Amino acid sequence: MDWKEHLRRHGYRVTPQRIAILEAIETQDHPTAETVLVEVSRQFPSLNRTTVARTLATLGEQGLIEHTHFGGDATVYHLASTRPHLHVICVECGKQQSYEGPALGSLGAEIERSVDFHVDWSHTAMYGTCAECRAAAQAEGTSEEAD
Ligand SMILES: [Zn+2]
Ligand SMILES: [Zn+2]
Repeated sequence: MDWKEHLRRHGYRVTPQRIAILEAIETQDHPTAETVLVEVSRQFPSLNRTTVARTLATLGEQGLIEHTHFGGDATVYHLASTRPHLHVICVECGKQQSYEGPALGSLGAEIERSVDFHVDWSHTAMYGTCAECRAAAQAEGTSEEAD
């Protein structure tokens, strides 16, 4: 379900600021609150960090957006209406990508069956190394490979 419809259906107060924040989350790929602020304050210069944080919390409570904890104190947001996906993050360069293939469903079912646990994929991030960083490490040769 799309968020405009969700807002209408639940009779939530639809302020232009909220719409701008939802649009920023929709168009940017997993922005942080800071990125959302930068984007939205172009349109609403009076918006500050506190307002954005409060709005993000409200939108989360209303079930419109979800957040994911990345390394450190980074928290990123995506629309709750996006397909279930797993965030993968490169430990070298910090690049994030999303995996939403069919394996999530079968792995989720298997985990649920064996340990009776429901995985919230979207809240989860997995760490590894992206293609570019693996290629760069290979190009540098084994001499630089410090572990
Ligand atoms: Zn996400
Ligand atoms: Zn990388």
